Amino acid sequence: MTTPIPLCDAVSCVAAQCTATVCRGAGIASNNAMFTRASRAIPGGVNSSIRAFKSVGGTPYSVARAEGARVWDVEGNDLIDLVQSYGAIILGHAHPKVTEAIRVAAGDGTSYGAPTPREMKLAEAIAERVPSCERVRFMNSGTEATSTAVRLARGATGRKRIVTFHGNFHGATDALLAAGGSGLATLGLPGTAGVPEEAVANTWVLPYNVVPKLDNDVAAVFVEPVAANMGLVQPLPGFLEGLRAECDRVGALLVFDEVITGFRLGAGGAQAKYDVRPDLTCFGKVIGGGLPIGAVGGRADIMENLTPLGSVFHAGTLAGNPLATAAGLAALNELTDDVYMELLARARKASAILRDACADAGIHAQFPVVGTLVGMYFGNALGSAVPTNFEEAKTTDEAMYARVFHAMLSGGVALAPGAYEAVFVGLGHTDDVMDELASRTNAALRSLAI
Ligand SMILES: *Cc1c(COP(=O)(O)O)cnc(C)c1O
Repeated sequence: MTTPIPLCDAVSCVAAQCTATVCRGAGIASNNAMFTRASRAIPGGVNSSIRAFKSVGGTPYSVARAEGARVWDVEGNDLIDLVQSYGAIILGHAHPKVTEAIRVAAGDGTSYGAPTPREMKLAEAIAERVPSCERVRFMNSGTEATSTAVRLARGATGRKRIVTFHGNFHGATDALLAAGGSGLATLGLPGTAGVPEEAVANTWVLPYNVVPKLDNDVAAVFVEPVAANMGLVQPLPGFLEGLRAECDRVGALLVFDEVITGFRLGAGGAQAKYDVRPDLTCFGKVIGGGLPIGAVGGRADIMENLTPLGSVFHAGTLAGNPLATAAGLAALNELTDDVYMELLARARKASAILRDACADAGIHAQFPVVGTLVGMYFGNALGSAVPTNFEEAKTTDEAMYARVFHAMLSGGVALAPGAYEAVFVGLGHTDDVMDELASRTNAALRSLAI
Protein backbone atom coordinates (compact mmCIF):
# COMPACT_ATOMS: atom_id res chain seq x y z
CA MET A 1 0.00 0.00 0.00
CA THR A 2 1.26 3.45 -0.86
CA THR A 3 1.09 6.28 1.61
CA PRO A 4 -1.41 8.93 0.47
CA ILE A 5 0.13 12.24 -0.51
CA PRO A 6 -0.92 14.93 1.98
CA LEU A 7 -3.28 17.15 0.01
CA CYS A 8 -3.97 20.79 0.70
CA ASP A 9 -7.07 20.94 2.82
CA ALA A 10 -9.08 24.05 2.15
CA VAL A 11 -10.79 23.94 5.53
CA SER A 12 -7.95 23.65 7.99
CA CYS A 13 -5.02 24.94 5.96
CA VAL A 14 -3.32 27.81 7.71
CA ALA A 15 -0.90 29.08 5.13
CA ALA A 16 1.97 29.92 7.42
CA GLN A 17 2.10 26.39 8.83
CA CYS A 18 0.92 24.55 5.73
CA THR A 19 3.03 21.48 5.06
CA ALA A 20 0.86 19.85 2.39
CA THR A 21 2.91 18.31 -0.39
CA VAL A 22 0.31 19.17 -3.00
CA CYS A 23 -0.46 22.82 -2.35
CA ARG A 24 -3.57 24.26 -3.95
CA GLY A 25 -3.24 27.54 -2.15
CA ALA A 26 -6.66 27.32 -0.58
CA GLY A 27 -6.75 28.74 2.92
CA ILE A 28 -4.09 31.33 2.27
CA ALA A 29 -5.84 34.33 3.71
CA SER A 30 -5.49 36.76 0.84
CA ASN A 31 -3.68 37.63 -2.35
CA ASN A 32 -1.76 40.19 -0.32
CA ALA A 33 -0.64 37.66 2.29
CA MET A 34 0.32 35.25 -0.43
CA PHE A 35 2.38 37.84 -2.32
CA THR A 36 4.11 39.06 0.82
CA ARG A 37 5.10 35.51 1.74
CA ALA A 38 6.14 34.66 -1.83
CA SER A 39 8.29 37.79 -1.99
CA ARG A 40 10.37 36.48 0.91
CA ALA A 41 11.17 33.30 -1.02
CA ILE A 42 11.12 34.47 -4.64
CA PRO A 43 12.63 37.76 -5.92
CA GLY A 44 9.73 40.14 -6.44
CA GLY A 45 7.36 37.30 -5.62
CA VAL A 46 7.17 36.15 -9.24
CA ASN A 47 8.89 33.85 -11.70
CA SER A 48 8.16 35.98 -14.77
CA SER A 49 8.51 39.73 -14.31
CA ILE A 50 5.25 40.93 -15.83
CA ARG A 51 3.24 38.95 -13.28
CA ALA A 52 4.27 41.39 -10.53
CA PHE A 53 1.84 44.12 -11.79
CA LYS A 54 4.65 46.69 -11.92
CA SER A 55 3.27 48.46 -14.96
CA VAL A 56 -0.34 48.60 -13.75
CA GLY A 57 0.33 48.94 -10.02
CA GLY A 58 -1.18 46.97 -7.17
CA THR A 59 -0.73 43.42 -5.91
CA PRO A 60 -1.12 40.41 -8.18
CA TYR A 61 -3.81 37.81 -7.64
CA SER A 62 -2.36 34.35 -7.04
CA VAL A 63 -4.07 31.48 -8.76
CA ALA A 64 -5.12 28.40 -6.81
CA ARG A 65 -6.70 26.56 -9.73
CA ALA A 66 -8.27 27.00 -13.14
CA GLU A 67 -10.82 25.35 -15.38
CA GLY A 68 -12.01 26.30 -18.86
CA ALA A 69 -12.11 30.08 -19.15
CA ARG A 70 -11.82 30.68 -15.41
CA VAL A 71 -9.12 30.97 -12.81
CA TRP A 72 -9.78 31.06 -9.07
CA ASP A 73 -7.50 33.13 -6.90
CA VAL A 74 -6.42 32.03 -3.42
CA GLU A 75 -9.30 34.06 -1.93
CA GLY A 76 -11.79 32.00 -3.93
CA ASN A 77 -12.75 34.74 -6.42
CA ASP A 78 -13.39 33.52 -9.94
CA LEU A 79 -12.00 35.51 -12.84
CA ILE A 80 -12.86 35.12 -16.50
CA ASP A 81 -9.35 34.66 -17.77
CA LEU A 82 -8.19 36.46 -20.92
CA VAL A 83 -4.55 35.68 -20.14
CA GLN A 84 -4.64 31.90 -20.69
CA SER A 85 -0.98 31.63 -19.72
CA TYR A 86 -0.11 34.25 -22.36
CA GLY A 87 -1.39 31.95 -25.05
CA ALA A 88 0.02 28.61 -23.91
CA ILE A 89 -3.54 27.49 -23.15
CA ILE A 90 -5.85 27.29 -26.15
CA LEU A 91 -8.35 24.54 -25.23
CA GLY A 92 -9.18 26.20 -21.92
CA HIS A 93 -7.63 25.38 -18.55
CA ALA A 94 -7.55 21.75 -17.41
CA HIS A 95 -9.06 20.46 -20.64
CA PRO A 96 -10.02 16.82 -19.95
CA LYS A 97 -8.08 15.45 -22.94
CA VAL A 98 -4.89 17.27 -21.95
CA THR A 99 -5.27 16.42 -18.28
CA GLU A 100 -5.80 12.74 -19.11
CA ALA A 101 -2.79 12.66 -21.45
CA ILE A 102 -0.62 14.11 -18.67
CA ARG A 103 -2.03 11.68 -16.10
CA VAL A 104 -1.28 8.68 -18.31
CA ALA A 105 2.18 9.97 -19.25
CA ALA A 106 3.02 10.66 -15.60
CA GLY A 107 2.21 7.07 -14.75
CA ASP A 108 4.73 5.95 -17.36
CA GLY A 109 7.54 7.94 -15.74
CA THR A 110 8.35 11.58 -16.21
CA SER A 111 11.79 11.68 -17.87
CA TYR A 112 14.25 9.02 -19.03
CA GLY A 113 17.24 10.47 -20.85
CA ALA A 114 16.42 8.39 -23.94
CA PRO A 115 14.30 8.90 -27.08
CA THR A 116 10.53 8.38 -26.71
CA PRO A 117 7.58 7.69 -29.02
CA ARG A 118 5.69 10.75 -27.75
CA GLU A 119 8.37 13.24 -28.85
CA MET A 120 8.54 11.54 -32.25
CA LYS A 121 4.78 11.83 -32.67
CA LEU A 122 4.72 15.48 -31.69
CA ALA A 123 7.53 16.25 -34.15
CA GLU A 124 5.54 14.43 -36.85
CA ALA A 125 2.37 16.28 -35.90
CA ILE A 126 4.14 19.64 -36.23
CA ALA A 127 5.77 18.71 -39.55
CA GLU A 128 2.45 17.51 -40.92
CA ARG A 129 0.74 20.80 -40.12
CA VAL A 130 3.65 23.15 -40.88
CA PRO A 131 5.34 21.99 -44.11
CA SER A 132 8.43 24.21 -43.68
CA CYS A 133 9.31 22.12 -40.60
CA GLU A 134 10.97 19.15 -42.26
CA ARG A 135 12.78 18.44 -39.01
CA VAL A 136 11.83 19.51 -35.47
CA ARG A 137 14.04 19.64 -32.37
CA PHE A 138 12.49 20.13 -28.89
CA MET A 139 13.67 22.10 -25.91
CA ASN A 140 11.90 23.45 -22.79
CA SER A 141 10.78 27.00 -23.55
CA GLY A 142 10.32 29.55 -26.30
CA THR A 143 13.44 31.27 -25.01
CA GLU A 144 15.47 28.11 -25.56
CA ALA A 145 13.95 27.82 -29.03
CA THR A 146 15.06 31.31 -30.07
CA SER A 147 18.53 30.95 -28.53
CA THR A 148 18.97 27.62 -30.30
CA ALA A 149 17.81 29.20 -33.57
CA VAL A 150 20.36 32.01 -33.18
CA ARG A 151 23.19 29.53 -32.71
CA LEU A 152 21.93 27.31 -35.51
CA ALA A 153 21.58 30.20 -37.96
CA ARG A 154 25.08 31.41 -37.19
CA GLY A 155 26.54 27.92 -37.35
CA ALA A 156 24.78 27.02 -40.58
CA THR A 157 25.71 30.24 -42.41
CA GLY A 158 29.11 30.93 -40.85
CA ARG A 159 27.92 34.53 -40.33
CA LYS A 160 27.39 36.54 -37.15
CA ARG A 161 24.81 39.25 -37.71
CA ILE A 162 21.23 38.84 -36.54
CA VAL A 163 18.50 41.26 -37.63
CA THR A 164 15.48 41.81 -35.37
CA PHE A 165 12.67 44.36 -35.24
CA HIS A 166 11.73 46.97 -32.65
CA GLY A 167 8.91 45.76 -30.46
CA ASN A 168 9.28 42.11 -31.39
CA PHE A 169 9.92 39.87 -28.40
CA HIS A 170 11.89 36.67 -28.63
CA GLY A 171 12.16 35.63 -24.99
CA ALA A 172 15.04 36.04 -22.57
CA THR A 173 17.80 35.28 -25.09
CA ASP A 174 20.88 37.48 -24.68
CA ALA A 175 21.53 38.03 -28.39
CA LEU A 176 17.91 39.05 -28.93
CA LEU A 177 17.63 41.41 -25.95
CA ALA A 178 19.11 44.38 -27.79
CA ALA A 179 15.69 46.01 -27.49
CA GLY A 180 12.39 44.42 -26.81
CA GLY A 181 8.63 44.39 -26.87
CA SER A 182 6.91 42.55 -24.07
CA GLY A 183 8.12 43.41 -20.60
CA LEU A 184 10.98 45.60 -21.73
CA ALA A 185 8.68 48.01 -23.54
CA THR A 186 6.52 48.24 -20.47
CA LEU A 187 9.46 48.85 -18.17
CA GLY A 188 10.84 51.41 -20.61
CA LEU A 189 14.36 49.97 -20.49
CA PRO A 190 16.67 50.09 -23.50
CA GLY A 191 17.75 46.49 -22.98
CA THR A 192 18.61 44.76 -19.76
CA ALA A 193 21.43 44.73 -17.28
CA GLY A 194 23.52 41.61 -17.49
CA VAL A 195 23.80 41.49 -21.25
CA PRO A 196 27.28 42.70 -22.23
CA GLU A 197 27.60 44.94 -25.30
CA GLU A 198 29.51 42.15 -26.99
CA ALA A 199 26.47 39.86 -26.76
CA VAL A 200 24.39 42.23 -28.87
CA ALA A 201 27.18 43.75 -30.96
CA ASN A 202 26.04 41.64 -33.90
CA THR A 203 22.34 42.29 -33.42
CA TRP A 204 20.58 44.96 -35.47
CA VAL A 205 17.20 46.18 -34.32
CA LEU A 206 15.22 47.74 -37.16
CA PRO A 207 11.71 49.19 -37.56
CA TYR A 208 8.95 46.62 -37.94
CA ASN A 209 7.03 46.54 -41.20
CA VAL A 210 9.88 48.02 -43.27
CA VAL A 211 11.87 45.61 -45.41
CA PRO A 212 15.54 46.36 -44.66
CA LYS A 213 18.40 46.24 -47.13
CA LEU A 214 20.59 43.35 -45.98
CA ASP A 215 24.18 42.47 -46.74
CA ASN A 216 26.26 39.30 -46.81
CA ASP A 217 27.09 39.53 -43.09
CA VAL A 218 23.55 38.68 -42.06
CA ALA A 219 23.08 35.16 -40.70
CA ALA A 220 19.37 35.48 -40.02
CA VAL A 221 16.38 37.76 -39.78
CA PHE A 222 14.22 37.02 -36.74
CA VAL A 223 10.65 38.25 -36.94
CA GLU A 224 7.32 37.80 -35.22
CA PRO A 225 5.22 37.32 -38.37
CA VAL A 226 2.33 38.86 -36.46
CA ALA A 227 3.75 41.00 -33.66
CA ALA A 228 1.87 40.06 -30.51
CA ASN A 229 4.10 41.63 -27.85
CA MET A 230 3.58 45.32 -28.72
CA GLY A 231 -0.17 45.17 -28.69
CA LEU A 232 -1.10 43.35 -31.86
CA VAL A 233 0.56 44.51 -35.07
CA GLN A 234 -0.22 42.90 -38.37
CA PRO A 235 2.47 42.58 -41.05
CA LEU A 236 1.74 45.10 -43.81
CA PRO A 237 1.22 43.62 -47.28
CA GLY A 238 4.63 42.82 -48.74
CA PHE A 239 6.58 42.90 -45.47
CA LEU A 240 6.99 39.17 -44.92
CA GLU A 241 7.33 38.50 -48.66
CA GLY A 242 9.94 41.26 -48.83
CA LEU A 243 11.91 39.71 -45.96
CA ARG A 244 11.84 36.36 -47.76
CA ALA A 245 13.15 37.91 -50.98
CA GLU A 246 15.83 39.98 -49.23
CA CYS A 247 17.05 36.95 -47.23
CA ASP A 248 17.23 34.92 -50.43
CA ARG A 249 19.15 37.70 -52.16
CA VAL A 250 21.96 37.74 -49.57
CA GLY A 251 21.82 34.11 -48.43
CA ALA A 252 20.49 34.89 -44.95
CA LEU A 253 18.01 32.65 -43.13
CA LEU A 254 14.49 33.83 -42.43
CA VAL A 255 13.39 32.80 -38.93
CA PHE A 256 9.74 33.15 -37.91
CA ASP A 257 9.20 33.39 -34.17
CA GLU A 258 5.83 31.65 -33.99
CA VAL A 259 5.96 31.04 -30.26
CA ILE A 260 2.61 32.85 -29.97
CA THR A 261 1.19 32.52 -33.48
CA GLY A 262 2.09 28.84 -33.99
CA PHE A 263 -1.07 26.71 -33.77
CA ARG A 264 -2.92 29.82 -32.55
CA LEU A 265 -3.67 31.60 -35.83
CA GLY A 266 -4.49 28.26 -37.42
CA ALA A 267 -2.87 24.85 -37.80
CA GLY A 268 -0.23 26.24 -40.15
CA GLY A 269 0.51 29.35 -38.07
CA ALA A 270 1.27 32.76 -39.55
CA GLN A 271 3.35 31.21 -42.34
CA ALA A 272 0.23 29.51 -43.71
CA LYS A 273 -1.95 32.59 -43.24
CA TYR A 274 0.48 34.84 -45.13
CA ASP A 275 1.87 32.13 -47.40
CA VAL A 276 5.54 32.87 -46.71
CA ARG A 277 7.85 29.95 -46.01
CA PRO A 278 10.59 30.64 -43.43
CA ASP A 279 13.79 28.61 -43.20
CA LEU A 280 13.40 28.10 -39.46
CA THR A 281 10.46 28.46 -37.09
CA CYS A 282 10.49 28.81 -33.30
CA PHE A 283 7.59 27.36 -31.33
CA GLY A 284 6.53 27.27 -27.68
CA LYS A 285 3.30 27.99 -25.79
CA VAL A 286 0.48 26.04 -27.57
CA ILE A 287 2.66 23.06 -28.59
CA GLY A 288 3.12 22.11 -24.92
CA GLY A 289 -0.57 22.12 -24.00
CA GLY A 290 0.36 24.30 -21.01
CA LEU A 291 3.51 22.41 -20.03
CA PRO A 292 7.07 23.73 -20.52
CA ILE A 293 8.23 23.26 -24.10
CA GLY A 294 9.96 24.93 -27.02
CA ALA A 295 10.85 23.75 -30.50
CA VAL A 296 12.81 24.77 -33.55
CA GLY A 297 11.63 23.41 -36.88
CA GLY A 298 12.85 24.00 -40.39
CA ARG A 299 14.60 22.95 -43.55
CA ALA A 300 16.25 19.55 -43.19
CA ASP A 301 19.60 20.74 -44.55
CA ILE A 302 19.75 23.55 -41.97
CA MET A 303 18.39 21.51 -39.06
CA GLU A 304 20.99 18.83 -39.71
CA ASN A 305 23.68 21.27 -38.65
CA LEU A 306 22.55 20.51 -35.09
CA THR A 307 24.53 17.93 -33.14
CA PRO A 308 24.79 14.94 -33.39
CA LEU A 309 24.64 15.23 -37.22
CA GLY A 310 26.34 18.60 -37.46
CA SER A 311 28.56 20.81 -35.37
CA VAL A 312 26.05 23.22 -33.75
CA PHE A 313 25.61 22.07 -30.17
CA HIS A 314 22.21 21.43 -28.68
CA ALA A 315 21.23 19.32 -25.69
CA GLY A 316 18.69 19.27 -22.87
CA THR A 317 18.14 16.92 -19.93
CA LEU A 318 14.37 17.35 -20.13
CA ALA A 319 14.14 18.17 -23.85
CA GLY A 320 11.31 16.24 -25.52
CA ASN A 321 9.86 15.61 -22.08
CA PRO A 322 7.19 12.87 -21.99
CA LEU A 323 4.64 14.96 -20.08
CA ALA A 324 5.07 18.07 -22.21
CA THR A 325 4.97 16.17 -25.49
CA ALA A 326 1.94 14.16 -24.34
CA ALA A 327 0.10 17.36 -23.40
CA GLY A 328 1.14 19.05 -26.65
CA LEU A 329 -0.02 16.11 -28.75
CA ALA A 330 -3.36 16.05 -26.97
CA ALA A 331 -3.78 19.78 -27.63
CA LEU A 332 -2.82 19.60 -31.32
CA ASN A 333 -5.17 16.66 -31.83
CA GLU A 334 -8.11 18.76 -30.65
CA LEU A 335 -7.25 21.68 -32.94
CA THR A 336 -9.27 20.88 -36.03
CA ASP A 337 -10.26 23.39 -38.71
CA ASP A 338 -13.70 23.61 -37.12
CA VAL A 339 -12.13 24.50 -33.79
CA TYR A 340 -10.10 27.28 -35.41
CA MET A 341 -13.28 28.65 -37.04
CA GLU A 342 -14.89 28.66 -33.62
CA LEU A 343 -11.88 30.39 -32.05
CA LEU A 344 -11.96 33.00 -34.79
CA ALA A 345 -15.59 33.80 -33.98
CA ARG A 346 -14.78 34.03 -30.27
CA ALA A 347 -11.85 36.36 -30.86
CA ARG A 348 -14.11 38.67 -32.87
CA LYS A 349 -16.73 38.48 -30.15
CA ALA A 350 -14.24 39.32 -27.39
CA SER A 351 -12.99 42.27 -29.42
CA ALA A 352 -16.56 43.51 -29.97
CA ILE A 353 -17.40 43.17 -26.26
CA LEU A 354 -14.35 45.21 -25.23
CA ARG A 355 -14.89 47.78 -28.00
CA ASP A 356 -18.58 48.34 -27.16
CA ALA A 357 -17.98 48.55 -23.43
CA CYS A 358 -15.21 51.11 -23.95
CA ALA A 359 -17.37 53.11 -26.35
CA ASP A 360 -20.21 53.18 -23.80
CA ALA A 361 -17.84 54.36 -21.11
CA GLY A 362 -16.34 57.06 -23.35
CA ILE A 363 -12.93 55.38 -23.42
CA HIS A 364 -10.98 55.67 -26.68
CA ALA A 365 -9.70 52.20 -27.46
CA GLN A 366 -9.24 49.74 -30.27
CA PHE A 367 -9.14 45.97 -30.17
CA PRO A 368 -7.68 44.79 -33.48
CA VAL A 369 -8.21 41.16 -34.42
CA VAL A 370 -5.70 39.14 -36.42
CA GLY A 371 -6.89 35.59 -36.82
CA THR A 372 -7.70 34.31 -33.34
CA LEU A 373 -5.57 36.97 -31.63
CA VAL A 374 -6.96 40.18 -30.16
CA GLY A 375 -4.87 43.26 -29.40
CA MET A 376 -5.47 46.33 -27.25
CA TYR A 377 -4.68 49.96 -27.97
CA PHE A 378 -5.83 52.83 -25.75
CA GLY A 379 -6.15 56.50 -26.56
CA ASN A 380 -6.66 58.35 -29.83
CA ALA A 381 -3.09 59.37 -30.66
CA LEU A 382 -3.42 57.51 -33.96
CA GLY A 383 -6.96 58.61 -34.79
CA SER A 384 -8.83 55.58 -36.05
CA ALA A 385 -5.67 53.80 -37.25
CA VAL A 386 -4.06 50.88 -35.45
CA PRO A 387 -0.31 50.72 -34.78
CA THR A 388 1.92 49.34 -37.53
CA ASN A 389 5.22 49.52 -35.63
CA PHE A 390 6.68 49.94 -32.14
CA GLU A 391 6.79 53.76 -32.23
CA GLU A 392 3.09 53.87 -32.91
CA ALA A 393 2.32 51.05 -30.47
CA LYS A 394 4.07 53.03 -27.72
CA THR A 395 1.58 55.88 -28.05
CA THR A 396 -0.98 53.71 -26.26
CA ASP A 397 -2.32 55.36 -23.10
CA GLU A 398 -0.70 53.18 -20.44
CA ALA A 399 -2.33 55.09 -17.58
CA MET A 400 -5.76 54.49 -19.08
CA TYR A 401 -4.90 50.85 -19.54
CA ALA A 402 -3.96 50.54 -15.87
CA ARG A 403 -7.38 51.97 -14.89
CA VAL A 404 -9.20 49.65 -17.26
CA PHE A 405 -7.14 46.69 -16.06
CA HIS A 406 -8.01 47.27 -12.41
CA ALA A 407 -11.69 47.97 -13.09
CA MET A 408 -11.89 44.73 -15.04
CA LEU A 409 -10.05 42.77 -12.36
CA SER A 410 -12.37 44.07 -9.65
CA GLY A 411 -15.27 43.15 -11.91
CA GLY A 412 -14.04 39.58 -12.36
CA VAL A 413 -12.14 39.70 -15.65
CA ALA A 414 -8.39 39.05 -15.84
CA LEU A 415 -6.46 40.87 -18.55
CA ALA A 416 -2.68 40.67 -18.74
CA PRO A 417 -1.03 43.23 -16.41
CA GLY A 418 0.69 45.09 -19.24
CA ALA A 419 -0.58 47.42 -21.95
CA TYR A 420 1.31 45.61 -24.72
CA GLU A 421 0.00 42.09 -24.24
CA ALA A 422 -2.58 40.33 -26.36
CA VAL A 423 -6.01 39.13 -25.27
CA PHE A 424 -6.31 35.36 -25.46
CA VAL A 425 -9.52 33.44 -25.91
CA GLY A 426 -9.83 29.71 -26.32
CA LEU A 427 -12.22 26.80 -26.30
CA GLY A 428 -13.02 27.51 -22.65
CA HIS A 429 -14.72 30.74 -23.67
CA THR A 430 -18.10 29.23 -24.46
CA ASP A 431 -21.19 31.26 -25.40
CA ASP A 432 -22.26 31.37 -21.74
CA VAL A 433 -18.86 32.62 -20.67
CA MET A 434 -18.94 35.22 -23.44
CA ASP A 435 -22.31 36.52 -22.20
CA GLU A 436 -20.92 36.75 -18.70
CA LEU A 437 -17.78 38.41 -20.04
CA ALA A 438 -19.98 41.04 -21.71
CA SER A 439 -21.96 41.78 -18.56
CA ARG A 440 -18.88 41.87 -16.31
CA THR A 441 -17.00 44.07 -18.79
CA ASN A 442 -19.90 46.47 -19.25
CA ALA A 443 -20.38 46.85 -15.51
CA ALA A 444 -16.66 47.23 -14.85
CA LEU A 445 -16.09 49.89 -17.48
CA ARG A 446 -19.26 51.77 -16.62
CA SER A 447 -17.66 52.42 -13.25
CA LEU A 448 -14.93 54.28 -15.16
CA ALA A 449 -17.32 56.21 -17.41
CA ILE A 450 -16.04 59.68 -18.29
C1 LIG B 1 6.51 34.00 -25.11
C2 LIG B 1 7.38 34.28 -26.26
C3 LIG B 1 8.72 33.84 -26.31
C4 LIG B 1 9.39 33.21 -25.12
O1 LIG B 1 8.84 31.98 -24.78
P1 LIG B 1 9.07 31.43 -23.29
O2 LIG B 1 8.45 30.06 -23.31
O3 LIG B 1 8.35 32.39 -22.39
O4 LIG B 1 10.52 31.40 -23.03
C5 LIG B 1 9.43 34.02 -27.47
N1 LIG B 1 8.88 34.63 -28.54
C6 LIG B 1 7.60 35.08 -28.53
C7 LIG B 1 7.03 35.71 -29.76
C8 LIG B 1 6.83 34.94 -27.39
O5 LIG B 1 5.60 35.45 -27.36
